[in-house]
Amino acid sequence: MSRIQGNGCVARLTDVTRIYGTAGRETVALRGVSLAVHAGETVLLLGPSGSGKTTLLTLLGGLQRPTAGTVEIFGRAVEDYSPRELQRLRATRIGFVFQTFRLLEALSVLDNVMLVMRFGGVPRAEARRRALALLKEFGIGDLAGARPGTLSQGQKQRVAVARALANDAELIIADEPTGSLATAQGLDIVRLLTAEVRQRNHCAVIVSHDERIAAYADRVLYLEDGALRTSGGLASDALDPLPSALVGGIELDRPPV
Ligand code: ADP
Ligand code: MG
Repeated sequence: MSRIQGNGCVARLTDVTRIYGTAGRETVALRGVSLAVHAGETVLLLGPSGSGKTTLLTLLGGLQRPTAGTVEIFGRAVEDYSPRELQRLRATRIGFVFQTFRLLEALSVLDNVMLVMRFGGVPRAEARRRALALLKEFGIGDLAGARPGTLSQGQKQRVAVARALANDAELIIADEPTGSLATAQGLDIVRLLTAEVRQRNHCAVIVSHDERIAAYADRVLYLEDGALRTSGGLASDALDPLPSALVGGIELDRPPV
């Protein structure tokens, strides 16, 4: 598998629809979403609860498949990867920060960060060195031996971000990484994350409710009811035209030419 060069496309959704449930009880989580994310960029995805943000992220990360449309990750359609290849991809080239952090309680902070690297085949000593360096960089080096359950939300968040970065993954996917942290602390880790991603010419896609994260993003996208908008309006030109007589809030008696 070739590594991504320059500002190449890391993942691409083309006209993706995702429907949950069975006939008669269907939820359309995404409808006709097209999106490409590239090396060197941090993309922020904003949208209200239920708008399809998590669904979009899990598709980008190869955790599920679309009902219609295509998902390409690292230049290859998701359905062309075997389950084993996909698993390996997620262990080595994609870093996830889940909304609930999903740290393993039975393991120390250090082992949590090392785990994905070990899956990815990084030798134990090297994995340990990298994990400790990241924990230190994130100001929680002294917590390496602690159990996640004894940590604050902010500390857990740092561990989750360290784990996502540990493998040097080219695509980082973060689902509401600031969680309920309505503090500068939550933003601080996003700043660290995006700085790392930029420095390595990797790609991050971050979902959030928190518009303050926009300060660290190269691009901001809005999801609304399963459809993507850019900050300036709908991303596709399939926008229902405004009533032609309504221009800038002023009603004209005939459309302008
Ligand atoms: P967000 O992350 O923006 O809150 P989600 O992608 O989680 O949005 O959900 C989008 C829509 O799909 C919501 O209406 C949600 O209830 C529904 N949904 C999400 N996951 C499932 C699922 N596994 N089964 C059924 N419906 C789901
Ligand atoms: Mg969500």
